[in-house]
Amino acid sequence: SVPLSYFSGIGAASKIGVLVKGSNFLEGLQKVNTIVFDKTGTLTKGEFSVIATAPINIDSQQLIHLAALAEQSSPHPIAQALVKSDPLPKSSEQLTNIQEIVGYGVQANYQGKQLLVGNARLMEKNSVMGFQAVTPTTGTLVYVAYDGHYVGCLTVADTLKNDAAAAIKSLKQLGIKDIVMLTGDNYATAKNTADRLGINSFKAELLPQDKLRIVKEYQQQSIGKVAFVGDGLNDTPVLAGSDIGIAMGALGSDAAIEAADIVLMHDNPGAIPQVFSISQKTSRIAI
Ligand code: ADP
Ligand code: MG
Repeated sequence: SVPLSYFSGIGAASKIGVLVKGSNFLEGLQKVNTIVFDKTGTLTKGEFSVIATAPINIDSQQLIHLAALAEQSSPHPIAQALVKSDPLPKSSEQLTNIQEIVGYGVQANYQGKQLLVGNARLMEKNSVMGFQAVTPTTGTLVYVAYDGHYVGCLTVADTLKNDAAAAIKSLKQLGIKDIVMLTGDNYATAKNTADRLGINSFKAELLPQDKLRIVKEYQQQSIGKVAFVGDGLNDTPVLAGSDIGIAMGALGSDAAIEAADIVLMHDNPGAIPQVFSISQKTSRIAI
């Protein structure tokens, strides 16, 4: 049986914009000792801007234009930044067969030739001629290839959410033992983000399926429950597969909201320690 106080706990959570889908999840939070966070859109705003370009044999405007053409129907936050930055008009372009390759980027056919926009993995997978991966110092690199040849890269950068670092600190104070960050982004950017947030455990360059596998591994190792916090873009299976899935509601997809056990109606990670503390208080007053 569920103590009545859990219902008041659900009410308290709703007042801070957190939807808890059942008292069992509020109770379950007390047994969480590992919290796994997705990076982009969860701890960071997921609003990228183009901060540098390095074109090869074309000009910078053409490089951004090629990237934007391929990205125009992608839901990825990097895609939206590239489309916004495109200085050239997109009318009457011969673009066909656009395909999103989850965890890699996009592929399309432009004027009869293959256009690739994405990470180093995408370039390597397609054996792009002249491609050389750059070690980023800041930001995320987006590489572009046309007709089998490397034509340059763009650096895009995201910013941390305002309350992300404070949320991590509060979770540690609440006694959560393991705080982990998972990302498909490159190692250097992941390390920089983790350092700034005070997260000492992170894994980078992951594919969406790796995230689920890692959460399952933590579930096996951990004596407590494992919570996963994500924004939903490609993370729905991880939200569903973790003990307690926490979704960013405003950014998240309908499928993510459906798969989650707890939904943050706004996208502030600061609400996460608050709901943990509501859960702890709720248990203390339970008879
Ligand atoms: P995250 O784990 O940070 O949420 P994703 O799994 O969505 O990231 O993507 C992993 C990486 O794949 C990104 O950091 C980016 O380098 C690349 N990528 C994925 N989709 C796109 C896209 N549409 N355009 C450019 N790069 C992409
Ligand atoms: Mg993501």
